Amino acid sequence: MANNIQGIHHITAIAGSAQRNHDFYTKVLGLRMVKRTVNFDDPGTYHFYYGNETGTPGTILTFFPWEGIVGGRAGTGMATEIGYSVPKDSLEFWVNRFRETNVRQGEIGERLGEVFLPFEDPDGLKLSLIAGKDGDDRRPWVTPEVPATVGTQGFHSVTMTLRSIKPTATILTDIFGYELREQEGDRYRFATAAVSTANIVDLVEAPDGPRGHQGGGTNHHVAFRVANEDVQMELREKILKKGLNITPKIDRDYFFSLYFREPGGVLFEIATDNPGFTVDEPLNELGTHLKLPAQHEPKRKEIEKVLPALNF
Ligand code: ZN
Repeated sequence: MANNIQGIHHITAIAGSAQRNHDFYTKVLGLRMVKRTVNFDDPGTYHFYYGNETGTPGTILTFFPWEGIVGGRAGTGMATEIGYSVPKDSLEFWVNRFRETNVRQGEIGERLGEVFLPFEDPDGLKLSLIAGKDGDDRRPWVTPEVPATVGTQGFHSVTMTLRSIKPTATILTDIFGYELREQEGDRYRFATAAVSTANIVDLVEAPDGPRGHQGGGTNHHVAFRVANEDVQMELREKILKKGLNITPKIDRDYFFSLYFREPGGVLFEIATDNPGFTVDEPLNELGTHLKLPAQHEPKRKEIEKVLPALNF
C-alpha cells in the first residue's frame, strides 16, 4: 500500500447562495453533486461536494455556502486558483459555453507549455480549465449539456500564492514527497510521482502581494490524499517533528481528516480514501438526499428548517 501523499484529495471553498453554487457547478460546469450534507462544525450551513461519478479523490470540490456572505479577496497565504483537467481541444467548447451562460472568463493562454482558460464562478472564485501535456484518462461525469469529449476530468493542479515559496515548498518536498519539476517566471511547479493525475501544486511567489482574506469566492483549505489512516498517522508524526501544530484525527464520515496550517499560511488537510461517499447512499443516489452525521441526526427537523430550500 502506498505510504505517501497521493496528490490532491479535495479542495474546499466558500460560496454565497447555495442554489446559485449548485446550479453553476452541476449545470454550467457539469459536475455531479456527490454529497449534500452540512458543515459538521456548523450544521446550520450546507456542505456540498461535487466530483465525478463516485467522487473519486482528486475530483472533489466542496463548498460551504453562506447566504449573503461578504466576498473575500484572493491573495498571499492562500490557494488562489483551482485547475481542472480537460481533454485536448475542448477549450473552444468552453469559451462558447461560458459566453452563453454569462460566466466571467479570461483569454485562452499558455503556461508551462499547457493551454488553459481562466474563469470565475458566480462568487468570483478563480478556476482554470487546463489541457495538460501528460494527458488524462479519467472519465468525466456526463450531462446532457457537457458530453464526455469535453467534460472536466478532475483536478489538474492547485495554485497557492505566497510571500515566499520556501517554507511551503519544504513541506511539499520533505514531508509530502513532491519535487520541483518546472519554473516559469514567479510560478514554481511541484508534483509527486506517486500518482499521475491531480498531482501538481503550483507555488506563485509574490513578495509584495496583498494578503488574501477569506470570504465568499475564496478557498478555505486544500486536502491531500492518503490511502488509509496508518499512512495518515505516520505523516502526522512527521509534521509534529517539524514543530507544527496539527489536529488529532477527525471523522468526517466520508474520510478521516487531519488539519494543519503550513508555514506559508494555507490550511492543509490530510484525508483518507476510506470509506468514501457510498458509505451512506448507493452510487446511483449520491447527492440526492440531505445526509447528516450521526451527532446531528436527532436535530434533523430543526436543521432542515434553517437550511435554505433548494430546487434541483
Ligand atoms: Zn476538507
